[in-house]
Parts: sequence; C-alpha cells; structure tokens
Amino acid sequence: MKYDIPGQGQFEIKTIILDLNGTLSVAGTVPEGVKERLDQLKGIGFKVLFFTGNTRNDADDLAADLGIEWRLAKNAEDKRDLALELEPETCASIGNGLIDLELMKVVKLGIVTLQAEGVHIQTMLNSDIVVPSINDALDLFIDEQRLIATLRK
Ligand SMILES: [Mg+2]
Repeated sequence: MKYDIPGQGQFEIKTIILDLNGTLSVAGTVPEGVKERLDQLKGIGFKVLFFTGNTRNDADDLAADLGIEWRLAKNAEDKRDLALELEPETCASIGNGLIDLELMKVVKLGIVTLQAEGVHIQTMLNSDIVVPSINDALDLFIDEQRLIATLRK
C-alpha cells in the first residue's frame, strides 16, 4: 500500500512484521478479531509474518491457525537481520518488547502495542505510533485514513 502523508511525504508498506508474545498473542492467546484482520490485510496485498524466539513452542500451530508465515529470531539482532532481508524501507513492524528495539530502528514504520504485557520504553521511543491493542494496530493498515491522521503534520 502506498501512502501520501501530508507534511511527511510518500512511502510504501509491503510487509507487516509482527512480534508474537505480548503483541500478536497475549498470555499465549491470540485475541478475538485478529485472524479476520490478518485475512483482510492479506486480501489488500500485504505480506504478513511474525518473528519469534518461539518461547512457548507454539509458533507452528499459531502460524497455521492464522495463515501466515513465521521466522525464528532468538534476539533483537536476529529480528533486525531478518528485516534487512525484506526491504526494510517497505516494512512496518508491530511489537512490544526490548527484543523489538533493533527491528524498530530499521523498518519504515514502527508500532507498539500496550496490551496486558506492556511495552518497553526504549522500543516505544524508537517507534512511530503507540496503540492499545493488536487489533488497533492492524486497523491502521485496514483503514489507511487512521494511519494518515496519526502521521500527518
Ligand atoms: Mg513481545
């Protein structure tokens, strides 16, 4: 999706990179409404995937349920390096923890979700937008006017 942000210029987001624990899932459970939104985003044409250390060993099952891919990333540097393979200037990242910090520094657009597990302050300070929940984060890409309204000067 191409965006033209008043006072900020143009950019394109092709890929949405999600964190798993604390972002896509909260206390190990994917919130209601996430799968429908991921389906919508894929329909719009976004590539959507998640990076995780697979702490709960549930990444394969979740990815199958949600119909998206995942990549193993054991630390913040792994996440950054995976993003660098995906044209990071066309990537958005949605995360919450310190493990997402280096990723937020290389992608075009960084979004953090507060949710029950909270957000690391350093990751927040290196992101562009803070939202209360994963569904709110995904809605920014489903209704582009929300994203434009937050980013415009
Ligand atoms: Mg997390």
